[in-house]
Amino acid sequence: MLEISVLGASDSVGKSCVMISDSDHRRVVFDAGIQLHPRRTGRVSTAPDVDRFADETNAILISHAHIDHSGYTPALYRAGFRGSIHMTTPTKDIVQILWKDHLKIEGPHHYGISHLQTAMMKIETHNYRKKFKIASGITAEFLDASHILGSAYILLDWEGTRILYTGDFNDAKTPYHDPIQFPDPDDPIDILITETTNANRRIEGRKTVTSNLTKSLLNCYSRGGKAIIPSFALGRSQEIQAYLASDFDSFLHKFPLYIDGMILDMNAIYERYMNDKWVSPRILIELKDKGYRTPFDHEGIRVLDDVAMKKKRSKKRELLITRDQQSIILTTSGMMEGGPVYDYLRMGGGNPRNGLYIVGYQVEGTMGSDIANGEKNVKLDNGFGQVFDVSLDLEIKQFQFSGHSSLEGLVQMVQYSTPQKIYAIHGEPNAQKRYAEELRRIGFKAKILTAHDILEE
Ligand SMILES: [Zn+2]
Ligand SMILES: [Zn+2]
Repeated sequence: MLEISVLGASDSVGKSCVMISDSDHRRVVFDAGIQLHPRRTGRVSTAPDVDRFADETNAILISHAHIDHSGYTPALYRAGFRGSIHMTTPTKDIVQILWKDHLKIEGPHHYGISHLQTAMMKIETHNYRKKFKIASGITAEFLDASHILGSAYILLDWEGTRILYTGDFNDAKTPYHDPIQFPDPDDPIDILITETTNANRRIEGRKTVTSNLTKSLLNCYSRGGKAIIPSFALGRSQEIQAYLASDFDSFLHKFPLYIDGMILDMNAIYERYMNDKWVSPRILIELKDKGYRTPFDHEGIRVLDDVAMKKKRSKKRELLITRDQQSIILTTSGMMEGGPVYDYLRMGGGNPRNGLYIVGYQVEGTMGSDIANGEKNVKLDNGFGQVFDVSLDLEIKQFQFSGHSSLEGLVQMVQYSTPQKIYAIHGEPNAQKRYAEELRRIGFKAKILTAHDILEE
């Protein structure tokens, strides 16, 4: 008898964690993420409810590197976990940077450096579509989820019971990834545990979104401004660079793109995995035609000298945002909760010729969400304890990129895998409701459990 416990992200997004166990004391955990809170709340990140099972868990499977899916993993070694962590090869490279960065920012609240080091040593890496054993009678397999570099959905075979955990997946074509390849319909799934992030949200086509972004950048250029694009270091930033290197190609020579912040580290990892095992052959052919190995090779994509001292970096930013030469600046943090973007907004946010183009989802309560909702007077710090009152007078626009599946894609996942039982997680209550309604509407007979049902079990 299998038991499924959702230990985090049951009816929300953040601190993803799902546990499968049986009466033979076998226990496997999918993802161990943390939930970050808006900076102004002063709250440290929160953990999933997994510690009490840590010492009896056989293995942990991480779907992808995003901190809300991977960020709690080192803490499990503090809580007594002794087993292995499984993830794809690129995911390991990415989490190493993200975990260290998290520890630096938050301090040893959930784990210390020794737990992080143990976790790194305990990671076993895998390629897509290669089955591996994780405990007696249990095998697992990672399949490409098309969400970010190395992202996977996971198939678990538990003594013949087939469980599919989607992690985060994308059914849209993006620069590095083809739309997700759904599981083989000839091999039905018994239990589907699926994200539902966008179930009640209309997703604009990537083509429309990028052409709108292009239009705004061109307008910004023609009025003599500089464009600031705050972005998450991992995934969206590399996507924006690929779009600009391809669609904005000729323009990048006169309106160059500068990269600042942790994006550089992530670019280096993308560079390492630019082969057909991890990215779509489509982008490899496109790049080869242009004589590039990665989109970042484009002459119009430049790096803000990352070896400069902290103080000097701020000076360089000032130069970039105030001098005559126009440029696009891609920088962290994605939700404007700090980071180099504050320097640019502080020194360039009052200039109506400039533009702020938001390309990532903004969590309610973050500075990014305030600004996207029209707040013009903001307090920004310079990283040295000084706080400045800034009045934003630049053009502000938001573009709805999404790394998550559309409702159609969520339904297709069900149609391909024909599960008996579905656990709808990783989505707001309204999204889960919409998801369950849609499946009922098309006559799908599976038992669907949303957070409400799960809590009753
Ligand atoms: Zn994700
Ligand atoms: Zn997620």
